[in-house]
Amino acid sequence: MAVDKIQLDVATPDRLVFSAAVDEVVLPSVEGYMGVRPGHAPLLAQLDVGEISCHVGTETRYLACSGGFAEVLGTTVSVLAETAELAESIDVERARAARERAEERLRAESSEQEFRRAEVSLKKAITRMNVAGRVRG
Ligand code: ATP
Repeated sequence: MAVDKIQLDVATPDRLVFSAAVDEVVLPSVEGYMGVRPGHAPLLAQLDVGEISCHVGTETRYLACSGGFAEVLGTTVSVLAETAELAESIDVERARAARERAEERLRAESSEQEFRRAEVSLKKAITRMNVAGRVRG
């Protein structure tokens, strides 16, 4: 692999979702979106629900991620996400249904814990819809 590339691996506990040599990766860290280019200092970051994007030449690929960790070490970025889907493989109707269920749960009288869970579900569903929209216009 050329030294000006980053090897990006995005895995979940059950599969390797994406693996490629890329020019830059943008990660949804809990402290905000962060860009990683070749030569970045070593780093361990906690990830939020959000979008992972990576650039290869003029092409950009997008993934939805629902939290996890990213390790930046040398020329490798390893993401272990709770869940991750490439934009092209997101089922938009499923995400829309999940958003509706989450909105319903937020409207219901429920415990603070239930409310927080519904907020996370809503964020995951909206992220999936937005990421899918990146490749579907
Ligand atoms: P749902 O209520 O639709 O199941 P969820 O937020 O509960 O959504 P998760 O627990 O985050 O789902 O994910 C379970 C599995 O389903 C993971 O492997 C995840 O990648 C996949 N997944 C969830 N939603 C979608 C979607 N809209 N399109 C494609 N894969 C999805």
